[in-house]
Amino acid sequence: MPSPLQTTIAGSLPKPAWLSPPAQLWAPWLLRDERLVEGKRDAVRLALLDQEQAGIDIVTDGEQTRRHFVTTFIENLEGVDFEHKRTVHIRNRYDAEVPVVVGAVARRHPVFVDDARFLRAATTHRIKYTLPGPMTMVDTLYDAHYGSREQLAWAFAEILNDEARAIEAEGIDVIQFDEPAFNVYFDEVRDWGVRALERAAQGLRCNTAVHICYGYGIQANIDWKKTLGAEWRQYENTFPLLAGSKIDQVSLECANSHVPLELIALLEGKDVLVGAIDVATARVETPEEVAATIRAALKYVSPERLYPCTNCGMVPLSREVARAKLRALGAGAELARRDLRRRATRRSRAARGAV
Ligand code: ZN
Repeated sequence: MPSPLQTTIAGSLPKPAWLSPPAQLWAPWLLRDERLVEGKRDAVRLALLDQEQAGIDIVTDGEQTRRHFVTTFIENLEGVDFEHKRTVHIRNRYDAEVPVVVGAVARRHPVFVDDARFLRAATTHRIKYTLPGPMTMVDTLYDAHYGSREQLAWAFAEILNDEARAIEAEGIDVIQFDEPAFNVYFDEVRDWGVRALERAAQGLRCNTAVHICYGYGIQANIDWKKTLGAEWRQYENTFPLLAGSKIDQVSLECANSHVPLELIALLEGKDVLVGAIDVATARVETPEEVAATIRAALKYVSPERLYPCTNCGMVPLSREVARAKLRALGAGAELARRDLRRRATRRSRAARGAV
């Protein structure tokens, strides 16, 4: 059995500057054709090395093969026009020019399956693969065809399920769906969001996870967070629904956040990926700070169910900062594990003394 407090990351890491310009969302690729294919794979190898050296147990490809966590998947589907974009207000927060759904959406070929196979062959660690969640996909598009967010989400859920099953077959241990939209549209989460998510994960035998966060450290998100008040209780709406769902793991933001940690107790029976690294600042946590976040969360979830993690993807940070944060996460989890071992030793000594 693996030791408790298995570490992992939300998903993305910054890319090397020779592959893509740093600190930019939707950054373009700097290589073409076969060089791009080779460059992406070299970047995955480096992302793995950084995680493994930092002591991260369940690793990802750092999302080195995609430009954006949602749109790269959608670009590979039919029914979406990327040429004539329209403006939408993403997550009620900021305007963005987005592609338009012009017909029935369909997946004619696998999207990330080759990348998943490469990842499996490139590391002996357990691996996690991330996909966008159905509601977040809907929220990143202008719909000129379905006329119903729910129907479009359901179509995406079926497509995601095909992709997830194919990825699972490559030997992936965890498939995570990213649903930051779950922190915004509470009525829709209740009415159809969790069901669409379960449809996306239907029939998977590997672990399934959902990541719900307050976003990257970009200005629109920082401004939004200022409006949320002293206590962020958004998770209070969704966690009871997820606790009753078939999803195994929930990834949430805790470090440097106004989320009251007692909300974790609402996830009883689930694995909890506790964000112990703030991705909205370049300041690197100390291992002791990471351990303190983990200890605080341990009041509400057992060590076997607690996975120290990052709050969100680290793609907007510099590689140097991201690497230092990975090391802090690995070292902080080890400090917290040491506490647990000490406590177990004390308990067994006390038990022997009592005989
Ligand atoms: Zn996130």
